[in-house]
Amino acid sequence: MPTRPPVARTPVARTPVARTLKVLDRALARFRAAGETVALVPTMGALHDGHLTLVRQARRKADRVVVSIYVNPAQFAPTEDFSSYPRRLAADVAALAEAGVDLVWAPDTAVMYPDGFATRIAPEGPALAGLEDAFRPHFFGGVATVVAKLFGQVRPDIAVFGQKDYQQLKVVTRLSADLDLRVKIIGVPTVRESDGLARSSRNAYLSVEERQRAPALHRVLADCATKINAGRPIRAVLESGRKALAREGFAVDYLEARHAETLAPVRSLKDGPIRLLVAAKLGTTRLIDNLAV
Ligand code: AMP
Repeated sequence: MPTRPPVARTPVARTPVARTLKVLDRALARFRAAGETVALVPTMGALHDGHLTLVRQARRKADRVVVSIYVNPAQFAPTEDFSSYPRRLAADVAALAEAGVDLVWAPDTAVMYPDGFATRIAPEGPALAGLEDAFRPHFFGGVATVVAKLFGQVRPDIAVFGQKDYQQLKVVTRLSADLDLRVKIIGVPTVRESDGLARSSRNAYLSVEERQRAPALHRVLADCATKINAGRPIRAVLESGRKALAREGFAVDYLEARHAETLAPVRSLKDGPIRLLVAAKLGTTRLIDNLAV
C-alpha cells in the first residue's frame, strides 16, 4: 500500500455568518451562556487594514468579536454612492475568519428595516457641529439609527470605531451615553497607507492620477498642525491650507480646527486640545481625514 506523504494541515478558519435575527440570537446566546464578553465592530464591508485593526483591538478587549457588515441606505443621500458602494461579502468573511472573528452579522435591508419601520434617531451636539452634517445633513441621523439598532441586536459590551470618522466617533459616543445603551465605545487611531493617505473603502474610486494626489490631504493637515503648534494664527493657517488643497486639485468642503472633544470652533491653541478635520473631493470621490494638533 502506498504511503501518503505527511500533509501539513493548516486549520481552515471558519466564521459563521448570521443573516437573520434568529441565527444571530442563537450564536450570541452561546457566548452569553459561557459568560463571555462581546465586542462589536460595525462596518459597511469592503474591508481593508483599517477595519482589521479595529478587529484586532476588539479581540484584545473582549472574549468574542462580532463584525457587522451592512451598507446602510439610511446614511446615504439619493445623490450619493449607495448603489455603487463596493460589496464583497465572501472576501470580507474570509478576511474576518483569518483575523479570528467569531461571528459576522450581515443582515439585509428586509431584516434591518422591515415593512412598517418608522423610527429615526435625530442626534444633536457633535452631530450638528457644522462639519460633515453641513454637507451630508441626512448622514448622522442614518448612522445613529443603524448603530442603535446594531447595539439592540448584538447587545455588545463594547463597540470599536475608527478615529478616521472622527465626528461619527463623537456622535456614537454621545448616542450610547444619552440613550443608556451601556455600550463602551472605543476609538482606534487612523490606519494609513505608507504615503499618509487614510485607508478607506472609497479610495478604490480614485483614478491612478487622483491616487497620486490624494496624500496631499494628510500632508496639508500635518503642515497645518505644525504651524498651529508653532503659534501661527489658526485662521490664516487654515486659509492657506485650503488654498494648498485647491492647488492640488481638491474641491474643499471644509478644513477646520475644532475642540477635540466638543468639536466647538477654536480660535487659539489655548482653546485646545485641537483636532483638524477636513473633507474634500478629488474628481467625484469625497475623502475625509483628521489629525490631532
Ligand atoms: P466603514 O466600513 O467605512 O463604515 O467603516 C467602519 C469602521 O471602520 C468605522 O468605525 C470607521 O471609522 C473605521 N475605519 C475606516 N477606515 C479606517 C482607517 N483607515 N483607520 C481606522 N479605522 C477606520
